Amino acid sequence: MNTCHSCGERGNHHLTLESGLQVHLCDDCYNAWFCKRLGLDYEQYKHPRTITVFKIRFSVRVEIVSSGVAYFAYRNRGKELESICFIGPFAMSGTEAIQELKNKVALRTYKPSLEYGILNDMGTIGLLQNELDPDEMEFLIDGKRYNSEQYLNFLRFHAGSNLVYLIEPRVPRPNSEWFTMAEHLPKEIVTEMNEL
Ligand SMILES: [Zn+2]
Repeated sequence: MNTCHSCGERGNHHLTLESGLQVHLCDDCYNAWFCKRLGLDYEQYKHPRTITVFKIRFSVRVEIVSSGVAYFAYRNRGKELESICFIGPFAMSGTEAIQELKNKVALRTYKPSLEYGILNDMGTIGLLQNELDPDEMEFLIDGKRYNSEQYLNFLRFHAGSNLVYLIEPRVPRPNSEWFTMAEHLPKEIVTEMNEL
């Protein structure tokens, strides 16, 4: 385990600076470093460590990304599909973003995706590759894996309807290790204006 260069906590961000030097930083120190690079005050993204939605407690992590500020809500130590992300613009404060994150969590967790063997109108389905057969897909619904035939049967029930979908990346586990090259990160906030 690497310790944070700045504060001595667990350093899970392994950042290679432009000078070639590699430093290990914890979440907070990495975010503070990235904010400073972009000319932002990390303090404005302060957030509670946990949020409670429908009496369920989620732990919260924040990460500064090139396009904004990502707020992650984790349940059950970051189990797949129970982790939800909201990415806010740099101009949005931590307080405002947490409200948006809570709304998204509420939308996602108000009921299971599958009830009595029938897919609900709204839910989340994880797409996985079968570990033994890479040509086979698996579908993760409410923490349970289904094969493509079972998934098609769920859809068959809704034949005649439209499936309106949204594909988003899965939230990384809270204990992930991050390897970043500083040269790949922006040095200023990229807006549509200065991208032209
Ligand atoms: Zn640190």
